[in-house]
Amino acid sequence: MSQTYRFDTRVVHSGRRQPLPNFYPTVPPIYLTTTFAYPEYRETDAVFFHQRDGYVYSRYGTPTHRALESAVADLEGGDVAFCTASGMAAVHLALLAAGVGRDVPVLLAQDVYGSSLTLATRVLARLGVPVYTVDVGDMTAVRRQLDTVRPGVVFFEVISNPLTKVADVPTLIEWAHAVGARVVVDNTFTTPFLFRPLEHGADFVVHSATKYLSGHGDVLAGVVVTRKEYASQVETLLRQVGSTLGPMEAWLVYRGLKTLALRFPRQCENAQRIATFLQTHPRVARVYYPGLSDHPDHERATHLFGGRYYGAIVAFEIAGAGQEEVFRFLDSLKLCLPVTTLGDIYTTVLYPARSSHHYLTDEEREALGIGLGLVRLSAGIENGEDLIEDLAHALAQVAS
Ligand code: PLP
Repeated sequence: MSQTYRFDTRVVHSGRRQPLPNFYPTVPPIYLTTTFAYPEYRETDAVFFHQRDGYVYSRYGTPTHRALESAVADLEGGDVAFCTASGMAAVHLALLAAGVGRDVPVLLAQDVYGSSLTLATRVLARLGVPVYTVDVGDMTAVRRQLDTVRPGVVFFEVISNPLTKVADVPTLIEWAHAVGARVVVDNTFTTPFLFRPLEHGADFVVHSATKYLSGHGDVLAGVVVTRKEYASQVETLLRQVGSTLGPMEAWLVYRGLKTLALRFPRQCENAQRIATFLQTHPRVARVYYPGLSDHPDHERATHLFGGRYYGAIVAFEIAGAGQEEVFRFLDSLKLCLPVTTLGDIYTTVLYPARSSHHYLTDEEREALGIGLGLVRLSAGIENGEDLIEDLAHALAQVAS
C-alpha cells in the first residue's frame, strides 16, 4: 500500500487484493468475502450480467460454493447444483422453482419429512397453493390423485422416514410427467451413492446436506440439483430469497463429501447387521429395513439400489413399549446418540413420536403406522459389534 495514504486509510486497505496467481490450491479456499473486484469495471459489469463467468457478490456464490455445487451436480448426474442454508431451504427453493403457485397444486407423499409437509400445508397453502397428499406406496391412490388434482409439482422421498418404505420412483416420475407435473425428489436418505433420481427423469433433486453429504454432524446445509433448463429459475430464486449457504459451511460439506463412498457403504453394512440382530430380539416387535427379505419393498429396493446396499436407516418397535419404556431405552444407550438427526458417522437414534412426528395427533401418527414404541436408528461407521452390544444392553434395561 502506498505510503502516500494516511495511516487510517492504510489500516483499512493494506494487505489487500492480489489477482490470482498462476497456481491453485489442492483444496478450494474458504472465500470469506462478500464481494469480488476485477482490474477493469467492464469485467464486473460483464459478470453481473452473465456475459462472462465469475463472481461479484457472495449471495450469488463464491468459488467455495462453486466447488461444492459442481461436485454434487456431478455425483447426482445433474447439470447444475445450488447449495442452500439448510435442507429445508433446498426443499423450499426446489418447490418454488418447480412452479408451485396460487393455481399450481403440489402433490406430496404423505410421509415426507415433517417440516417439508408443514412447509406445504402451513406456509405454501396460506399463500394460496393448493396442497394435496397421497400415500405413494398405494399406486391406485396415486393414479386417482394425479387424475383429479392434476398437480403442477409432485414431491416425494426415495426412502420414507421413519418406516423405510421405498417409492416406485420410475413409475411415479413417468405418471407425474404424463399429467404435466414437474417432479422433485428428496434424495437425502439414499445419497447419489445408492440412487440418482435425475437418471430416472426427475426434474429436481434435493438434499439435506446436513446428513450424509457432509456426514460429520457439524454443519447445516442443503442442495438443489437440476437440469440446464431449470438452472436460471433456481439461481434467480436463490438470489431473491437469499437462503444462500455460508462459505465456511460450503467448505465443510465439500470436505465431508469426499469420504461419502467410504462412509455410506459402511453405514449400510452396519444397518443391515443391526436390522438382522433386532429381527430376532424378543423385546423387538417389528423391524423396518428394506435390506430384510421380508420388508414389503425389498424387491423394489434391490432393483433400484443394485442389490448390495439398502440405506442406513433402521426403524424398530420395542414390544409393548410406550413413552416411558422408550425413554428408558434411550437413556440406557452408552454409544448410540439419542439426537434428532441422521446420516452422521456416529450412530444416532431418534424417537419419532416425540420429535420428527410430534406435530401429529396420536390418531394421525398411528394412522401412518408410527406407534409410541417406534425408534429410528441411523447407523454410523463404528464397529457393528459394539453397536449391537449397546442396543442389546439398552433393550435389556427396558425388559427389567
Ligand atoms: N429432508 C429430509 C429427508 C430430512 O430428513 C430433513 C431433516 O431431517 C430435511 C429434508 C431438512 O433438512 P435440514 O434439517 O438440513 O433443514
